[in-house]
Amino acid sequence: MQSLTTTAHYQQLLGLPSTWMVENVDLSMTAMQVVIRLVYTGKNAICTECGETCSIYDQAPEQKWRHLDTMQFETIIIARLPRANCKEHGVKTVGAPWADRHSRFTLMFEGFVVQLLQHCSNTQAVSTLLGLSWHCVDDIMRRAVKRGMARRGDDSIEHLGIDEKSFRAGQRYVTTLNDLDGARVLEVVETRTNKATKVLLTSLAATQRDNVQSVAMDMWQPFATAVQQILPKADIVHDRYHISSYLNEAVDKIRRQESRTLKAIDDKTLVGSKYTWLRNPENMTPIQRTSLDELLACELKTGRAWSLKNMFRAFWSLTNRDSAIYFFNYWSEAVDRSGLNQLITVKEMMQRHLENILNYFKHRTTNAVSEGLNSKIQLLKASSRGFHSFESYRVRILFYCGKLNMAIS
Ligand SMILES: [Zn+2]
Repeated sequence: MQSLTTTAHYQQLLGLPSTWMVENVDLSMTAMQVVIRLVYTGKNAICTECGETCSIYDQAPEQKWRHLDTMQFETIIIARLPRANCKEHGVKTVGAPWADRHSRFTLMFEGFVVQLLQHCSNTQAVSTLLGLSWHCVDDIMRRAVKRGMARRGDDSIEHLGIDEKSFRAGQRYVTTLNDLDGARVLEVVETRTNKATKVLLTSLAATQRDNVQSVAMDMWQPFATAVQQILPKADIVHDRYHISSYLNEAVDKIRRQESRTLKAIDDKTLVGSKYTWLRNPENMTPIQRTSLDELLACELKTGRAWSLKNMFRAFWSLTNRDSAIYFFNYWSEAVDRSGLNQLITVKEMMQRHLENILNYFKHRTTNAVSEGLNSKIQLLKASSRGFHSFESYRVRILFYCGKLNMAIS
């Protein structure tokens, strides 16, 4: 026999509105489950379309929701939702106050899953721990991101960043819009075309678009064109983060080519040296520094390329635009004299975009935020073993890098 206190106890625990009653609570020791059956006691029902109070047409078929566990027992809520008989909209199933529409979990359970996910950036671990499928966790994250995005205000955002990230193998990309002052990702779109970038930028409210002062980005024309079209007042800044990746890439190409040439004559000097040329000297251990010095003493092409790349770092600590122009010309001549084609190509590209590179001295866009967000996204990609879809990738980026308020209300 059901004790009265048990139902009253659960009634209190669930914090139900007065129109819902706990009918009975069933404990199954074999299934290790607590099943709570709820019944609607209201006299009317609210139409989900118009909010009118209507008579009750009937009760929808029984549905189940997983709730927070009761001690070690999985806890299930079972109820039949009333269907409102709206004069205007016909028969409409009323939403459950304890769950999101279309969710098989209660809001409290979803809130718990969100907290777990926030503390452990691994969907698989959370799925296993709670005995949920990957898709269930994915759905919960999706709803959490939707909640968080809806709560975001139209506060002014002055400094934006646009970044691309590869998605799956091959040449597939996603483009992210970042708030550089708030260190968060605002939105993600598939591909890196002009059209996609325009969609990305129009995700900002009109008043926000009006207040943007600068957009840091790669020297990629579709991004620049989109900014000119949607944010005509904002300056484009080709920041240190993006320039450094081109210079690093040029040094790496030169190293690969030279290493092949040397190997052909059985010289293994450059073998295994890839990261030596990519690290900044101040981040090196004494052993790494010694091996760099030894390599530099060999008078290789790679060493010359490295020196020119390293020399350009001084550009970013200059104090004004005029000295930056002077420095750039000086450095360009040195690159030309080196005869290193891969580096000359990058220099020529920088020359074509010099005005936007010099905008750095107006806005002083830091690259720490872009770098931080990018490595965070990289980790998400690595821990997910390939995303099932673009949408799942987008949801994860916003879940972990969007600084959203995803709490249940
Ligand atoms: Zn209605």
